[in-house]
Amino acid sequence: MPSYDPAKNNTVIIVGFPYRILVEPVVRNHLDEPIEGCFDPDKALISISKASTTDMMNETLLHEILHGVSDATQASLTEDQVYRISRALYASGVRPGVVFGKKDCKKD
Ligand SMILES: [Zn+2]
Repeated sequence: MPSYDPAKNNTVIIVGFPYRILVEPVVRNHLDEPIEGCFDPDKALISISKASTTDMMNETLLHEILHGVSDATQASLTEDQVYRISRALYASGVRPGVVFGKKDCKKD
């Protein structure tokens, strides 16, 4: 399971590798469309669009972490599979455990 190292602020460890978590005003895909988050294995970076609640950002982060798990395990999950599994995990109470800074999100 991914783990959070509080000593390294906003870093999540996915299958042994640290990924930096960056909260941005808006994350955009390769078509310049606004998206909720992005997993970039080349940069070891997870970008999260700033949302109105930390819950929404945590749900997005869980989704991006699952992309990382899929990548690390060569499971080759499709976007739809990542979406469905991360939604089910979130609905089951699984949380990434990252504390987003106050400046990174509105109060929820
Ligand atoms: Zn995705």
